[in-house]
Amino acid sequence: MIKEVDSDKIRKHFQRSWYRKFTWLEWDASKQAAFCHLSRVITEQNMKLTNSTEPTFTTEGYSKNWKKAKERIAKHGHSSSHREAVTKFAHLVRGTNVASMMNIQKDKDRQIATDCLRHIFTPAIFLGKQGLAFRRNPDEEGNFVQLLQLRAAENPSLMSWLNKYRSYTSHQVQNEVLDLRIASLYFVRCESKQFL
Ligand SMILES: [Zn+2]
Repeated sequence: MIKEVDSDKIRKHFQRSWYRKFTWLEWDASKQAAFCHLSRVITEQNMKLTNSTEPTFTTEGYSKNWKKAKERIAKHGHSSSHREAVTKFAHLVRGTNVASMMNIQKDKDRQIATDCLRHIFTPAIFLGKQGLAFRRNPDEEGNFVQLLQLRAAENPSLMSWLNKYRSYTSHQVQNEVLDLRIASLYFVRCESKQFL
């Protein structure tokens, strides 16, 4: 006998496919809730955000109203507090704080997520600093995808993470990383101003 699929029930749960749309999304199995990995890391680091943070995606986790979840997650992605967290995360991974940042993360999956996101962000920062083109048509031949493929070829855990959760050739992911490249250019400018 074929078991009937309750489509309404499916809609009420966290969907793994959302990882492909939202690169920063993470699922905390112990809390049974969704978080924004970047905003959560920045909050755990006690780094101040000038825009108010959203406890839903940083400390509490999103665990209710799954029917509206996708909409709500997208809203967080467009919030000023999230954009600031993205910028601060980029700044953080450029420094030497990554090891200490990862040490405070007890969950192994979260450590892997931070490490893999760092591998995604650093090629973007490099391209920004060198003033090199980010994309090309077809996407697979673009600098960003090529650099990331090189890194993944040398890093089996990055390769399996990308295959499992993200599609770094998707425009969604590339748009987010392009935002990051703009953020990194901003930091380059700020840093050089300090020495004027
Ligand atoms: Zn966020």
